[in-house]
Amino acid sequence: MRHATLPLLVLLLFTSGFAQTKSSNRRMAVTIDDLPYVPVVEVAYVRNAERATKKILGVLKKHKAPAIGFVNERQLTDSSERDARIALLRRWVNANMLLGNHTFSHSDFNKLTIEQFEEEILKGEVVTRSLMKPREPYQLYFRFPMNHTGDTQLKKEALEKFLADRGYKVTPHTIDNSDFIFNVGYARAIQKKDLALARRIRTAYLDLTMGATEFAEKLSTEVFGHEIPQTLLIHVNDINADCLDEILSRYESRGYRFVALDQVMTDSAYQTRDTSVSKFGPSWLWRWSRSMNLDVTIDTSQDPEPPQWVVDLYNHG
Ligand SMILES: [Zn+2]
Repeated sequence: MRHATLPLLVLLLFTSGFAQTKSSNRRMAVTIDDLPYVPVVEVAYVRNAERATKKILGVLKKHKAPAIGFVNERQLTDSSERDARIALLRRWVNANMLLGNHTFSHSDFNKLTIEQFEEEILKGEVVTRSLMKPREPYQLYFRFPMNHTGDTQLKKEALEKFLADRGYKVTPHTIDNSDFIFNVGYARAIQKKDLALARRIRTAYLDLTMGATEFAEKLSTEVFGHEIPQTLLIHVNDINADCLDEILSRYESRGYRFVALDQVMTDSAYQTRDTSVSKFGPSWLWRWSRSMNLDVTIDTSQDPEPPQWVVDLYNHG
């Protein structure tokens, strides 16, 4: 009995040691959407946006996380606040972050023609590119709103060509933590000074974020045979202003260090061409497994969803 157990123990020690080494090399790019800010209530936009921007940029600096922010320039059209809102974007540039294009008005490609969507892209890069001028040359990145990359093959390929011709790379993501759903209940709870509710939402949000990350780690191993660098997608909002520090600390305890999107994009997994067509906005891990025709059964029940009570707060307040 003793002889049979010993090799197993050695094997366990060996494999856990191996996993330790591997996981301490984890890398992640942080991508942040809907700049300058996602308000839950429109009042005091600039004040709340300044607070969120300052906190998020401070946290990114503390954790040495080079992030990219994707801008919707329609948010800059409020005539009385235009300068103040552009100043929020300038903070990102001054903090050495990249800015990317997320269309002018966060438009849904499923609902627009190819020409209409191309207009949205051109209109959406004017202020952003002028703010980023001192940083040239740099890689231009585009993120499709809702990650709707084209609901037909024709639309998808037309936009891929349009973007490539203009020097843009399409930005993928591998981890999506539904932050926008949690944020609505959270921002309202803070506004009503219901700190107990805010705390409950925060705990559920942190749990889901880590669960979604574990899911992405496992799925990337299934698709590529090893863990790949991850790309986190979050938004500039109140819940991240208050939770990002804890999220990044938890990632560091899992062995992650934060790298620029440029670096993640050079990984061989990210060279996989996404040929999948969907009207939904799934993770690139799903898209790549489809594009590679892999026989991977994705058990989506392992990918955590926000709890129903959080969804109810999002839908009905
Ligand atoms: Zn967005």
